[in-house]
Amino acid sequence: MSYDGRFRVWRGDADGGDLADFTVEVNEGEVVLDIIHRLQATQAPDLAVRWNCKAGKCGSCSAEINGRPRLMCMTRMSTFEEGETVTVTPLRAFPVIRDLVTDVSFNYEKARAVPAFAPPADLAPGDYRMQQVDVERSQEFRKCIECFLCQDVCHVIRDHEDNKQAYAGPRFLMRIAELDMHPLDQADRRQAAQHEHGLGLCNITKCCTEVCPEHIKITDNALIPLKERVVDHSYDPLVWLGSKIRRR
Ligand code: SF4
Repeated sequence: MSYDGRFRVWRGDADGGDLADFTVEVNEGEVVLDIIHRLQATQAPDLAVRWNCKAGKCGSCSAEINGRPRLMCMTRMSTFEEGETVTVTPLRAFPVIRDLVTDVSFNYEKARAVPAFAPPADLAPGDYRMQQVDVERSQEFRKCIECFLCQDVCHVIRDHEDNKQAYAGPRFLMRIAELDMHPLDQADRRQAAQHEHGLGLCNITKCCTEVCPEHIKITDNALIPLKERVVDHSYDPLVWLGSKIRRR
């Protein structure tokens, strides 16, 4: 069963653009990315769109569908009414390159700013046995496909471009939390999270968790525990006393 669906797709580049109306055939079982491909094949061959696996694993086809950050390949057309106009726009938090393609290099800069895992220098292979609980804790975070939907929806940068310098965003604060929870990591993640990566700007509205296609509980399992670790460290009287003694 097929029908003619109504779509509005943002066309333009860094200098500006507008929504363009299209009518595109929709078939049973299709997702929004199928429609965008049909649009390219039949009416708009120069429409720019980034995609790769079409299986919800590469994180490339991130866009906003009816204003909500989503993967185009994981958004079924059956979730919309047949008469409904479906609007597809580029990620709002990042600069547009062309049409549905945005420049997400902000995220790669933030990734580079997080120091790598730092085990003890003298630790030999086999010296430490990981506990299953430690493996499971980080496994959830390792499901991240770097679609950057959480980064896009986070109002700290979505609505405040000037915060980008000081704020890593949920994806990379989660990475810091993952490393801080690793029993062997030696780096000072907590002070860095607070003072270099803007953890304090996150006010745990859980928007990131709501849009994550991997259903990672970013807020509950990474951001809130990281905030608690920062507070514990900053206000622990023994830690405070130790820092005073070390300064002498
Ligand atoms: Fe995407 Fe979820 Fe990873 Fe954020 S945490 S980049 S929403 S997979």
